[in-house]
Amino acid sequence: MAKFAVTPANVAQREAWTGGTIPDVERVRPGLWSIPVPIPINPLRYVLVYVLELPDGVAIIDAGWNTDEAYDALVAGLGVAGYAITHVKGVLVTHIHPDHYGLAGRIREMSGAWIALHPADARLVRERYDDDAIDSLVERERALLRRCGVPPLTLDELAGASMMIRHMVSMAKPDLLVEDGDRLGLPGWDLRAIWTPGHSPGHLCFVSPSRRVLFSGDHVLARITPIVAVHPQSGPNPLADYLDSLAAVRKLEVDEVLPAHEYRFLELAERVDTVMAHHDERLAEIERVVGELDGVDCWTVATRLTWSRPWETIQPFMRRSANNETLAHLAWLEAKGRVRRVVGEPDLWYPA
Ligand SMILES: [Zn+2]
Ligand SMILES: [Zn+2]
Repeated sequence: MAKFAVTPANVAQREAWTGGTIPDVERVRPGLWSIPVPIPINPLRYVLVYVLELPDGVAIIDAGWNTDEAYDALVAGLGVAGYAITHVKGVLVTHIHPDHYGLAGRIREMSGAWIALHPADARLVRERYDDDAIDSLVERERALLRRCGVPPLTLDELAGASMMIRHMVSMAKPDLLVEDGDRLGLPGWDLRAIWTPGHSPGHLCFVSPSRRVLFSGDHVLARITPIVAVHPQSGPNPLADYLDSLAAVRKLEVDEVLPAHEYRFLELAERVDTVMAHHDERLAEIERVVGELDGVDCWTVATRLTWSRPWETIQPFMRRSANNETLAHLAWLEAKGRVRRVVGEPDLWYPA
């Protein structure tokens, strides 16, 4: 089956992405700018921060990673749009991941801006980024990985795999909690929040019905699919949440999708269908492996799946993601009665 490829909204932006460079700061349409903010040591390379002009300044959607390089790029981008950091009145954060949330606290310090987040992600802030709480989070990650059948020697490496990036996030508490359906009340913008849990429990998209644009965060991207994984801070069946959230945005009438990575594109519904089909294929593949091995742990299932590169060459952090994504698919299949789990150390999976 030929894969559907979306139409980029701006070919130059897509070419920057595929060419391995950083796209330009860009005026997307009147009153709306896109600023690529670099992300360190990450194949995604940059997060697209959107700048919404207001009568007395700007609001921004997402913030970038908490590094000097990212901060300088944001300040420079605001400058191109004719603004200074002190003009930022608010930071709407799609979700708590460091490339979106990391810089929010520093922006607030410099500008007095409010920070908005969904309560389901706001709840995770302290546990995730506070030094007192982090040990219990690592311990729960370790317990989860053990139940997945991760070999003892690999366990330490995997359990602490994201600790090195924590210092790139400032632990900022949000000022404003945004729920599903909330109107943001930004002058000149009929912006409405859509709660889209899955990639993160409190992920938000923002839609402007009059401008017919969707700010999709990491929920829907042009080419890649976001990680949807079971982890200590996820719900028990994040893939079900994610697929429901895809259905929720699919029906929106918009002309353009403005994601946080890669590039802007046109066809929301078709892209959602492609992502749903991808998960259907993945579910079928995992169901097949469970059927073949009959009594298998999650880690072993993960090692048998097709990934974008050979399993042995995947970094520990990405292996953990791969394992936890596999677990999300197993949990979805279990909820549908397509596979069966026998709880133990490790949990073993059987055909239904
Ligand atoms: Zn994310
Ligand atoms: Zn992201």
